[in-house]
Amino acid sequence: MNNDCIFCKIISGEIPSKKVYEDETVYAFEDIAPVAPVHILVVPKTHIANALEITEENSSVIAHIYEVIGKIAREKGIESFRVVNNCGEDAGQTVFHLHFHIIGGRKCGIMA
Ligand code: AMP
Ligand code: ZN
Repeated sequence: MNNDCIFCKIISGEIPSKKVYEDETVYAFEDIAPVAPVHILVVPKTHIANALEITEENSSVIAHIYEVIGKIAREKGIESFRVVNNCGEDAGQTVFHLHFHIIGGRKCGIMA
C-alpha cells in the first residue's frame, strides 16, 4: 500500500470504485472517464508503479492479469478489444500504479 497512490486507495476501499472483478492478487474496476462503451482498469493489488518496475520477483501477476482480462472480456461479451498499458508521462501515464486498460465495445483506430 502506497499512501499517496489513488489506485492503492481504491483497492483498499478508501476511495469508492465500480468493482468488476477481485481476487487475492488482482482488482478490476470501471474507468471513471470511459473512452469506449467498455473501459475497465485491471491492476495488481501490490503497488507496482509501472512496467519498468516489473521484475522476476513480481512478474507472475502479469500473467494472471491477462487471465483476468480474458475472463472479464468474456463476461462483458466483447470478443474484440484493446489492452493498453501506458508507461511514463510521455506515454500518457497519469496514475503511477501499474494498470491495464481494457477498451472495447466500439471499433478502435490504428493506435487509439
Ligand atoms: P493512465 O492515463 O494510463 O495512467 O490511466 C489512468 C486512468 O485512470 C484514466 O483512464 C483515468 O480516467 C482513470 N482514473 C483516474 N482516477 C480514477 C478513479 N478514481 N476511478 C476510476 N478510474 C480513474
Ligand atoms: Zn498503488
